[in-house]
Amino acid sequence: MQYIASLSYGKDSIIIPDVCKEHGLPLDRIVHVEIMATDTIPADLPPMMEFKKKADRIIKDRYGIEVEHLHAKKNYEECFYHKRGQKTKYCPGGATGWPMLSFHGAWCNKTLKMSCLSKLNKLDIIQYIGIAADEPNRFHNLTDRKRSPLVEFGITEAMARERAEKLGLLSPIYTQSARGGCWFCHNQSIGQLRLLRKQYPEYWALMLKWDNDSPVTFKPDGMTVHDFDERFRNEDAQLKMEGYEDA
Ligand code: SF4
Repeated sequence: MQYIASLSYGKDSIIIPDVCKEHGLPLDRIVHVEIMATDTIPADLPPMMEFKKKADRIIKDRYGIEVEHLHAKKNYEECFYHKRGQKTKYCPGGATGWPMLSFHGAWCNKTLKMSCLSKLNKLDIIQYIGIAADEPNRFHNLTDRKRSPLVEFGITEAMARERAEKLGLLSPIYTQSARGGCWFCHNQSIGQLRLLRKQYPEYWALMLKWDNDSPVTFKPDGMTVHDFDERFRNEDAQLKMEGYEDA
């Protein structure tokens, strides 16, 4: 039997090793699913990648466990360009283009994340997941084989955040409004898209390219990445007219 912590680098999962250490819970491995946008570009933005490296060092030094980064066999771009109807193990249903929400959820989550974790579930393991004691709407995820040390020891979300901060393990998504999750996510807000275009024009250019090649729109309401691009360009032009030259 192995005890494995699932790490997302959010405030709840990142304190699991510390809670285990404090209460003498066994912990053998710590795993994180690393999503890749392309062969060379991670799905996380650079500040998050930097934080992960720092957190891995702290975890190794403090708890003696090397964080394992699991990768799906394909990256997002490969699945994006997978032809519809070509069923494969890694792109079920032949997903092409931007992920659409279906009965099973968006293909990206299933193909790039859950496929890695389901391999673990075939082993004889107890998995620790980061659910806080004041998140009863998530308790249905807990079973004999999926436990939350935070729930077991009454640690709320606020307590988890405070503890992560004290440990030097609070992600920049809480302090610098950096985006958590994939930079190309179809679920992100207009504000996050605007920031991505401004701060990472090379990633935005890739999204425009993917948008050209997608048979479905980026947002379910019909908005494309090009629509957002036009909107942001108009906003910039307006700001320039008003005298904000570096808009
Ligand atoms: S963050 Fe968005 S793009 Fe990434 S796996 Fe989740 S739903 Fe898909």
